Amino acid sequence: MLRRVALPTLLLSLGCFALASLASAYVVQKGDTLYRIAARESVTVDELKRLNNLSSESLSVGQNLKLPSEAAKVVKLSGLEVEAPSVVRQGEAFSVRLRGARAAEARVRFLSETSEDVRSPAEDLAPFGAGGEYAVLGRVVLGQTKPLVYEVRLGSERITGSVPVKNTLGRVQNLNLPSSTTELLQDPGRAAEDALVEKAYARRTPQAWTKPFAFGNAIKVISSGFGQPRRYNKDAKITYHYGVDFPGKVGTPVLAINDGTVVIAGTYPVRGGLVVVDHGLGVVSLYFHQSKLAVKIGQKVTRGQKLGEIGTTGFSSGPHLHLEVRVRGEATDPADWFGKLLP
Ligand SMILES: [Zn+2]
Repeated sequence: MLRRVALPTLLLSLGCFALASLASAYVVQKGDTLYRIAARESVTVDELKRLNNLSSESLSVGQNLKLPSEAAKVVKLSGLEVEAPSVVRQGEAFSVRLRGARAAEARVRFLSETSEDVRSPAEDLAPFGAGGEYAVLGRVVLGQTKPLVYEVRLGSERITGSVPVKNTLGRVQNLNLPSSTTELLQDPGRAAEDALVEKAYARRTPQAWTKPFAFGNAIKVISSGFGQPRRYNKDAKITYHYGVDFPGKVGTPVLAINDGTVVIAGTYPVRGGLVVVDHGLGVVSLYFHQSKLAVKIGQKVTRGQKLGEIGTTGFSSGPHLHLEVRVRGEATDPADWFGKLLP
């Protein structure tokens, strides 16, 4: 049974204030070009491209860009060069890059994850890539404040590095839920829904994408910022906004942000009309609240392919797309992915 509740409208409007506080990475504005940003920051366009793993010079509004103050640190082992970020922020998706003749043999773990509330902590990661250029994907859990610690092993050699975590998420919103909403969140169907999504998070398939991630052009305005901390009732645990909300008319096409395989396509009590695409390497994208679905489980989809249509099904009261990009189950800022082959 689907119920509509008033809360998300409130969240949508409060979310607008959150955007301004996500300023640790530069957020691309209307009219920005790489040339203008580079000139303003006194760097070259090539430096900005390299720092941000950009494969072209086109930018999209709302995309996150790193500036040179956040340039990566490089550490060397025999036959291997390791490039890790010098600073990360909560909810950030990032890559640790490995170069050199022996890069493919290296293994990477994020040791700090063992002390955090995180899915698949300190998983042993084999780098992906080719031709001496490899990478592993990292994620900073929302709520994490301690430095991120990574470990790189190559044969008998082992190095660790520590990266400070910035909190750019803004103040906690205190929200009191109406009893109708509390009921929805206790819906017996919810546990089954959550278990299904957890299964999708646990998938580890080969990299399915070869082009940069891209958000379709149909919806341009972001109404609710990623990562906003929320406390739903007094003294309750803090939760976060695990995705980004894009308002749009019911029926507006919802497009895949990159190639992959559909692993969930159905309608559920909380997420409503839901499509989940597995892009490989533990990266999945989730598209909530759709009115109609255009794909089936098991179907291969390509970047820009229609997955369904915007709606307001599930835990939603206004038509919008809630988009999440998860890395090994943890929510990362979708804006870190747009326009890039890797975050
Ligand atoms: Zn949302």
